[in-house]
Amino acid sequence: MIIRATAIPLAYYPYSSTSRIVHWLTRHHGKVSTLLKGALRPKSPFLGEYELFSTSELLYFSKRPHALHTAKECALLHPRNTFRTDWRAMQAASHISALFNQTTPAEAPHPGLFEFFEELLELAETYGRFPPFLHWAELQFCAHHGHAPSLESCTLCNATEPFVFSAAAGGVICTSCAKKEKLPFLECPPDVLAILRAWQKADHPQIAVKTRLSEKQQRRLTVITGAFLQHHFNMPPESRLAIQPLK
Ligand SMILES: [Zn+2]
Repeated sequence: MIIRATAIPLAYYPYSSTSRIVHWLTRHHGKVSTLLKGALRPKSPFLGEYELFSTSELLYFSKRPHALHTAKECALLHPRNTFRTDWRAMQAASHISALFNQTTPAEAPHPGLFEFFEELLELAETYGRFPPFLHWAELQFCAHHGHAPSLESCTLCNATEPFVFSAAAGGVICTSCAKKEKLPFLECPPDVLAILRAWQKADHPQIAVKTRLSEKQQRRLTVITGAFLQHHFNMPPESRLAIQPLK
């Protein structure tokens, strides 16, 4: 069966010296994997027709579901050229792609997820160069998957302060619950908590990228959101090290 799909590459892998495997997020067929035969040959018709972070029209032959499909043709529909020249924006887009690649099950159609991915990439073109963008995008990603960290009151006893952050408990917990339950926790000073709350509520990154962060706040945010993504989405923290080195 030949399938036509609007698709964005999530990751590439070499298959042989001339062929490549591409994982895509498609609008109507979920995450699919295709073999691009001869994609690395100098005269391959695939050349320039697909790129990380760009939307293509993909035609592939599917023998059976959940197999490695064979790409037939590909045409670049919407290149996102900012990511070729803006290194920081590219790093943000790359982390977002890794998040989707890691957390999306194969061939589970979810057009809303594709649209959300496209929207985040578009926003990353404009805002991705600002470090707060990534944290904002991560918070939106968690919310989209129904895993928004709970930030208003202790997730265990509803107390309204003082707080630490526990990825395992799903958000902030009060210091007495932390002691009682012996849960691993991270310090979450009031200023950092206020930033997380504001960014979680912001439906556009404009507010987040205007926030002036101290280096200390930046570090705390990286540690907290990193721990949360690792716990709830099994996301290795290494994928963000290139962007914001943990000191
Ligand atoms: Zn509590």
